[in-house]
Order: sequence, then structure tokens, then C-alpha cells
Amino acid sequence: MSMYRERADRDRLYRRPAPSASVLRTVSTRERRSHLSAPRVPTVGIDIGGTKVMAGVVDADGQILEQVRAETPEKSKSPKVVEDTIAELVLDLSDRHDVHAVGIGAAGWVDADRSRVLFAPHLAWRDEPLKDALTARLAVPVMVDNDANTAAWGEWRFGAGRGEDHLVMITLGTGIGGAILEDGQVKRGKYGVAGEFGHMQVVPGGHRCPCGNRGCWEQYSSGNALVREARELALAESPVAYGISERVGGQVSEITGPLITELARGGDAMCTELLQDIGHWLGVGIANLAAALDPGGFVIGGGVSAADELLIDPARDAFRRHLTGRGYRPEATIAKAQLGPEAGMVGAADLARLVARRFRRANRRRLERYERYERAADNLRRAVGQ
Ligand SMILES: [Zn+2]
Repeated sequence: MSMYRERADRDRLYRRPAPSASVLRTVSTRERRSHLSAPRVPTVGIDIGGTKVMAGVVDADGQILEQVRAETPEKSKSPKVVEDTIAELVLDLSDRHDVHAVGIGAAGWVDADRSRVLFAPHLAWRDEPLKDALTARLAVPVMVDNDANTAAWGEWRFGAGRGEDHLVMITLGTGIGGAILEDGQVKRGKYGVAGEFGHMQVVPGGHRCPCGNRGCWEQYSSGNALVREARELALAESPVAYGISERVGGQVSEITGPLITELARGGDAMCTELLQDIGHWLGVGIANLAAALDPGGFVIGGGVSAADELLIDPARDAFRRHLTGRGYRPEATIAKAQLGPEAGMVGAADLARLVARRFRRANRRRLERYERYERAADNLRRAVGQ
């Protein structure tokens, strides 16, 4: 009895405190001055993806008050066209809401000052001064960040990462996106492009990656990897692929990630196995990240995470088997993201509240300077009058 009791007490020591309480207690002083003292005003968050631009008014509690969307302009269009799209969405929302700042999460590399987009794979942006261009047009403060960073921030503030100030987010979409939060702050690296986990080499001499290297992590653990494997098996007319081949009527190109997940849920052996493989490689990569970064938790988002435990359970197993120093260290948790496709938008809006505050502070300082000048001028006038 007492031994069990001791065991339970020890386990409790390793368990982290309740999420609601610890946010206030464990964040650094600097962070306490930022998001916790930011004005509780509604802001607009924008998520620019490969196919659509989502914009939403989000309040200080992370609730989406209204959401609108538009198609992402084609890559061939000039940067101005994308700016127009963003401005139209914001002005539309401003008709019905009091918007205090705009936060943008873009799929691309954003510089460390968070003002220029260095490169965006789906858009014509090349060293684009997005922040200045939009600030001038919208007359409210604008914040620009990488979409993986805004999604991680959203999950940390309102989703699966609440209460964990050392957090790594991994987004499994067509590739792998990632972000690092430490002491409740996004780590962007010196040049703003930290968190490109997808191109860590996990298999020397492995599959060729569009980045030019071989064996990148995202060639083994992503939506593209999942679909590639399923199509290969179907093309080879493997007996294990009969189920999925029949489902798409032999049209191998119609095999998609969501279809594989659906069939796996229905008990299809091949689809379950493929998701296990993806999950296995996910766990291997996570173990590598834990060796380098030692976070308290990993949050898994992106379209592939819809497979839930079919993906996460094999990931946890592989993580435990590959973690360095296993058995002698507390293990990071692995959880599925909670905010879904809106995570980036909600996070961008919340990060924008930080610049909303800075903007207002700057105004107040200007006002104070003016008042001081007025007082001095008054004193001078009085002195001269006497
Ligand atoms: Zn690569």
C-alpha cells in the first residue's frame, strides 16, 4: 500500500502542473510584460497558405468573432496583388469590428525583424517589405511572422501547448513545418529562419528531396510521403493495395492523404501500416529534436495529424525507443494540436496584440513629450510676462 503511495507521489512530481495556473507563474518577466499586459482588444489574424488566405477577427481569449477567406493569388501575380487581397479582407472585417492591429502568418521565410518576407514558395515574394507596405495602407500596426511560428503561438496560448513554456510544434502537411517556443517566446534564430526541421537528414542517401538533398525528414514523415508510398504500392499492383485501388477505381493519382486516413480508420491493413510508418519516422525525428532542444512537450499539427492515435501512438513508441538517455530523464509529452486549421490565424492575431500595445505606448510617449514641452513653454511665457 505505502509503496504504491510513494510511487504515485513520485509520478506526481514528474507530472506538470495544471495548464491554467502555470502560464502566469512560469513565464519570464519579459513575457509577462508582453502578452499578459497587452491590451485586451480584438485584432485580425491572417493566414496565407498555398491555396487560400484566411482572415479572422480574434478577441483576447482566442475566440474567433468572424472569419472570411479568399483564394491565394497565383504565384505569377505581382506582390501587390497579394497585398490587395489582404487589405480587402481587413477592410471588410473593419466594417463590422473595431480592429486594433493585424498579424500575418505567411508560409515562407520572414526576417528576424519580422518585417520582410525573404522567400515564399507559393508567392512572388522575394525580400518583400510586407510590414511597411501594409502598415501604410491599413493605418493600424502590422506584424508579420512565419505561419509555423504563429500556429505554435496559437497552440501555446489557447490550445494543446497551454502551460508548457518549452514547446516544439511540428506541422505535418505536404512537408514538415516547425517552430520552437522557449520561456514562452518564439525562437526565430539569428536570421529568422529557425525551425526548418523538415530538412534534417534522417536517412543518409534516402529519398531525393526538392530542396536538393537526400533523406530529409519530410520525405519520410509528411502527407507527401504518405501519398507517395500508397501510390507506389498501388502502381506495383501489390495485393496489399487492392482495397485502396478499388476505392479510386484504379486511378492511382486520386489517392490522397485524407482517403488513406479514412480507410485506415475503417481497418484497411495497408493504410494503417503506412500511417504507422509515418508515425514511426515522426517519433525518430522528435527524439532527435529532444536531444537538441529538450522541450517539455511536442504538439503535432497539420492535415496528417487528423489520423489521431493511428499516427501519434507509433510516434510515441518510436520516440521512446530513440530518445537519448531514455529511462534517466523526464520524457516530453507528444500531443495532437487542438486549434485545427485556424491555429495560424488565431496565433497571428494574438501576436498582433503585442504590437498594438507598442503602438499605443509610442503614441503615449509622444503625447507626454508634447505635454512636457507645453508646460515648459507656459513657464517661459509666465517668466517673460513678469
Ligand atoms: Zn529537403
